[in-house]
Amino acid sequence: MELQELWEAALNEIELSISRANFATWFKNSYPSKRDDGTITIACHNGFTKEWLENRYNKIILRSLRAIDPKVKNLEYVIQIPVKKPERKQQARPAISLERDMQLELGGIAVDKDTNLNSRYSFENFVVGSHNELAHAAALAVTENPGTKYNPLFIYGGVGLGKTHLIQAVGNALREKYGSKKRITYITSEQFSETLVNAIRKQTMNEFKQIFRTVDLLLIDDVQFFAGKDKVQEELFHTFNDLHTKNKQIVFTSDRPPKAIPSIEERLRSRFEGGMIADISFPDLETRIAILKSKLMQKQADLDDTLLETIALSIQRNIRELEGALNRILTYSKIKGKNPTPKEAESILSELVHPNAKNINLKTITKVIMEYYDIDEQGLLKQSRAKEFVRPRQIAMYLLREILKMSYPTIGSKLGGRDHTTVIHACEKIGKSLAYDLELSQEISALKEKIYYAG
Ligand code: ADP
Ligand code: MG
Repeated sequence: MELQELWEAALNEIELSISRANFATWFKNSYPSKRDDGTITIACHNGFTKEWLENRYNKIILRSLRAIDPKVKNLEYVIQIPVKKPERKQQARPAISLERDMQLELGGIAVDKDTNLNSRYSFENFVVGSHNELAHAAALAVTENPGTKYNPLFIYGGVGLGKTHLIQAVGNALREKYGSKKRITYITSEQFSETLVNAIRKQTMNEFKQIFRTVDLLLIDDVQFFAGKDKVQEELFHTFNDLHTKNKQIVFTSDRPPKAIPSIEERLRSRFEGGMIADISFPDLETRIAILKSKLMQKQADLDDTLLETIALSIQRNIRELEGALNRILTYSKIKGKNPTPKEAESILSELVHPNAKNINLKTITKVIMEYYDIDEQGLLKQSRAKEFVRPRQIAMYLLREILKMSYPTIGSKLGGRDHTTVIHACEKIGKSLAYDLELSQEISALKEKIYYAG
């Protein structure tokens, strides 16, 4: 198989496992420039992209390439300008893309050029349950009276629970209401950062300001990624103030509440907190079934209730995965020409639940924790009692115990040579707090998602 073909096949897989915005941002202009036996070199059009692919997506890329060609062992990243990217052939998809084709056909990736909004995210196809009731009501209120009541609106919740859907639904609804009379911009925090970095490099800051300070509605997705990026935070702060004084509506999403975002300037945090904060938690069984039914309607497909319940019972904490599971079952039915029996369905679904569980090790877990809390290895391991280190360290102990079933002494020795009683104490403390500390339990869920996803 040619290198380009291999890459395209891998892209089809990657595209399914990360958000569209991220896919477009990081993969659009990247391509394999050469192959030496097991090593593939990936050319990136700037340093920023290289860094992201290397640090955040290396595992996914490698895994996807290896699934097609197990001989691939290693990836290297280089910056290559200008981009001489071969066109991505749409036909060259492997058989596994059936599921994707169906999504494409039905979902359509219609990203509006002016607003960067995807039209498939609407209020009409957003199912409301007790887990997202408040966020939904706040989003609706913003749509009815933008720039007045809840400004900014800050929506937070774990991976795959509908944040992007909801924030874009606000944009689409206002777009429908005002047409091009109001300027609407949806942007992910990574895109915002990248645009800013480019503007600084090309000395086009005036243009940058012009773009972001003349909008009527600014939607910024996943602001937790601003952690530690001082320059970007500063610019966002000024953009925010400028828009806010003009009563322009701003909506943010994040995977955690403002006060849990590490390395963020206090003044920006207080802006995040200055309007309405609404969370999205996990959907209950009834809501998960309702979501599956709504997706079936959109796909004009049908499955019996027992099957829907089997799916809804097997995937509880991530609506994207719930949809993925539904697609799996539908693909099966399409190929076999009949619906799976409950037993068959269970076996199809069992592969989906934590597919990476066996690849998870100490490093996966500590890496996710360090990234999440924005601390380095020293901070995690050293003998510091500062709160910013103690909590992540205790959570690390708890997760090592829970996920890897490591012994207390082993955990102690791996985490900076601590006594096993310290570890026992930490695990018990976290375990007990989980019962009443909603925030902690959301944090742990978010971390687990990342750990299983990264494995
Ligand atoms: P997040 O941004 O929180 O990671 P997304 O908004 O991307 O999650 O949602 C993941 C998938 O689940 C999307 O396809 C979205 O349309 C779907 N989804 C999430 N919540 C709902 C809901 N309440 N009703 C219908 N679909 C939903
Ligand atoms: Mg999202």
